[in-house]
Amino acid sequence: MTYQEDVENFMKAGDQPIQENLTLNGAQPELYMNLITEEYKETLEAFQEQNMIEVADGLADMVWVIMGMCSSCGIDFEKVWNEVKASNMSKFIDGKAIKNEAGKIMKPESYFHPDIKKALGL
Ligand SMILES: [Mg+2]
Repeated sequence: MTYQEDVENFMKAGDQPIQENLTLNGAQPELYMNLITEEYKETLEAFQEQNMIEVADGLADMVWVIMGMCSSCGIDFEKVWNEVKASNMSKFIDGKAIKNEAGKIMKPESYFHPDIKKALGL
């Protein structure tokens, strides 16, 4: 069971439609964007108060509403994640990062951008 599937079960139980096609229109993407903002603010506040329990709770809530946003917009999160992961991991050669003198991880020849279009099936 993926996080997105967990959230979709919650959405189905709550009569919130799961989008099959890509869209950013409608009340539900709007709702989930607002929830992401709300949860981010709560988490930031907890962080500023150095409240570990509330930070952990807030991070999980953020993942929850981000998954809800994906399912409200027809985004298969796993596919997008895999593209982003592959791109990030392409910064390493044989598991090692190339760093400059200041310690910044550099983008080697092997680096490639994530193909989000492909991940979305566009
Ligand atoms: Mg919360």
